[in-house]
Amino acid sequence: MTTETPERGALHEFLGRHERFLLTTHVNPDGDAIGSEVAFARWLQGMGKQVRILNDSPTPAAFTWLTAGTPIETYDPELCERRFAEADALVVLDTGNRHRIGRLARHLDLHAIAIAVVDHHATHEGFGKVNVIEPALAATASIVYELVRESGAAFDLLSAEALYVGLFTDTGNFRYSNTDARAHHMAAELVRAGVDPQDVTSRVHATAPAGRLRFFGEVLAALEMLDGGRLAVIEAAPEHFARHGLEGSDTEGLVDMPRVIAGVEVVALFSEVEPGKVKVSLRSTGRLNIDQVCAQLGGGGHPHAAGVQMRGSRADARARILPELSRLIGSLEGAGTPGGSA
Ligand code: 5GP
Ligand code: MN
Repeated sequence: MTTETPERGALHEFLGRHERFLLTTHVNPDGDAIGSEVAFARWLQGMGKQVRILNDSPTPAAFTWLTAGTPIETYDPELCERRFAEADALVVLDTGNRHRIGRLARHLDLHAIAIAVVDHHATHEGFGKVNVIEPALAATASIVYELVRESGAAFDLLSAEALYVGLFTDTGNFRYSNTDARAHHMAAELVRAGVDPQDVTSRVHATAPAGRLRFFGEVLAALEMLDGGRLAVIEAAPEHFARHGLEGSDTEGLVDMPRVIAGVEVVALFSEVEPGKVKVSLRSTGRLNIDQVCAQLGGGGHPHAAGVQMRGSRADARARILPELSRLIGSLEGAGTPGGSA
């Protein structure tokens, strides 16, 4: 088999050496996390391997249709013990940070299990025996796609759809800066394999309860424009979630909305689902790299899309994050002449 990198070769060998696999991904999984797991599991099943998927957090409703045939279990201490005991190898997808797999992390200390990591984030620790980490690729699904291709295996329709979901969600529907020729080429190949883009995207996007839009409305009505219109800040409070019966994953897409405002360089969302636990999401519209702001607080992500979980109030989180963003914005050429209205 010709592989693009020696690490990929090591992964193919790793998969050949083991029989019983456990797959997992990061907390609050997104389309790339779930899509990559599903396609990876189906690929392994095609090789006659045993596969289980267990995540810290439940699968968001938008992606449950992908799990027909490869159920995804949610963390429970006893179930997790059992799954670790049964498996001889763990494959971690879409994160290279040990703590990002949530409550599964503590079971790593109790089991001598071989680990492989497949991820596209630059802020990784590479805690696997094998680490296929390729930040040049738009999505983890892109790496999985290329691995399957290298192996010579064919894609069934659901695997192709799972990979397509991973790709279009992580590229923001082919709009973010990670959307390149390779991403479009992969999309074209998946469409050729039978994926119907209109059908698949509507299955993912048309899943919101009405309360999510009312919640977006409330939160966006209080949008703040700082730093001369270059920094957009939104906050979601526990009351907002409670009023509409929503959970943390219901913020999906919210942080992207202020990107449409003329002159905006950075969007920051402070989302407090439970009092004292704030999830910060940052987006850059292209000129600034904001991943370091999250990485220095223990989070991470990509240059233009990053996040971090923080303890404390929203005011505490703002006090840590906003001065850093203002400093970055101030470093831009022509920052003295505001591009938007405050
Ligand atoms: P989002 O804001 O949509 O949750 O995440 C944007 C990007 O940042 C994703 O690539 C995600 O994996 C990464 N990210 C979000 N939260 C965290 C975090 O707490 N730690 C790390 N390492 N990455 C995060
Ligand atoms: Mn991803």
